[in-house]
Amino acid sequence: MAAHSESKALSAARSTSSAAAQPPALREHTQAPAVERPASIADRADVCLAEPNLLNSVPVLQVHPTRRCNLACAHCYTESGPGESETLPVHLLAGAVQDAAALGYGQLAVSGGEPLLYRDLPVLLAAAKAMGMITTITSNAMLATPKRLDELVPVLDGMAVSIDGRPDEHDRIRGQAGAFDKAVANLTHLRERGLPFAFIFTLTQRNADSLEFVIELAAQTGARAVQVHPLTADGRAARTLSGAVPDQLELLAGLMAAEVIGTEKGVAIQVDVLLREQIERACRPLVPQTPVRQLKDAAPVLIVGANGQVLPYTHAVHPALALGNLHQGRLNELAAQWLRSGRADRLAQACGAARDALLAQDDLLAAYWYDTVAEQTHRQEAVPLVFKPAEPAWALLRDLDVTPTMRAAAMV
Ligand code: SF4
Repeated sequence: MAAHSESKALSAARSTSSAAAQPPALREHTQAPAVERPASIADRADVCLAEPNLLNSVPVLQVHPTRRCNLACAHCYTESGPGESETLPVHLLAGAVQDAAALGYGQLAVSGGEPLLYRDLPVLLAAAKAMGMITTITSNAMLATPKRLDELVPVLDGMAVSIDGRPDEHDRIRGQAGAFDKAVANLTHLRERGLPFAFIFTLTQRNADSLEFVIELAAQTGARAVQVHPLTADGRAARTLSGAVPDQLELLAGLMAAEVIGTEKGVAIQVDVLLREQIERACRPLVPQTPVRQLKDAAPVLIVGANGQVLPYTHAVHPALALGNLHQGRLNELAAQWLRSGRADRLAQACGAARDALLAQDDLLAAYWYDTVAEQTHRQEAVPLVFKPAEPAWALLRDLDVTPTMRAAAMV
């Protein structure tokens, strides 16, 4: 019974796999027509909303400028909320944007905390536009007022709006009654300004059946796409939603439902899931060649947290593989040190181990690639250091984020 349904599921999923690999096409809709905008995100086939599909996206600089948020959602991996104040000064971020653009990053994706609460958001987006980057933000849309949007529209190419299901489901996970109604009401302001927007839906172990509602809502409101993103058990979700991370059958169910309903409703879909055959075929984009020579090769996503920490690939990667902190140096300096230190090669090795581990599972149907790589980095970096006589202890610590006192102790 299980084998039969899995093979049916796999074959149906395979028939949709190429579409699933595509980023949102951001196609025009006939309903709720938007004001005509100049060539921008709507014309780019390689633009994602928040997290790139590694098979065909431009490298993305993902920035979390603040952990302040008007909500405190159950699934928030950055543990943002109304009581949080951690914020990065815009001059540090503008410098990082300049460096990232020079290093080949083509998109700035601002997330949070709630980006609309970051006062200098227009300045940050303008810095990215000046460098020729595509700009997107991920928002709960509750603060998307006409006044705030008017400041942003000249420098913003698209907005990803989080919608987690029917109104009651959305409000429950967002922890606030009326959150859904407010977000959907504000979509009018986006449409009136011709600002392209799409929905991000967090897939859990229990909500694949809510996808139909969300895709229908996208069709009705003029959202250009729906991105289906699997829940990860990080941050607040580790405490509030343990056991809700979708397993591979739920991933596959979500992928198929999204594809079938998306086609029916004329809504572009991106599911952040790779099928087995994509993992088999796509060795090159998934596993960087070593020695890694360019930052973007090993880190197609570069994440800047509100504390200034710069992480490659995904927020859940082992901290020993961090590039460093923007409070300590410019991004281009951190990148050069990172490549020299061998950390880029260690990350590439973790990508290779992630691919091997997934393909070793005979019953693998689909997987969330970023989580698997993060897991492998934790396995790999947890291995105790082996002290070789030819290499003094302090040399082994040079790449780790240790205090000067610890380093000095190791040099004794
Ligand atoms: S998930 Fe988004 S909206 Fe919710 S608390 Fe986190 S940053 Fe705020």
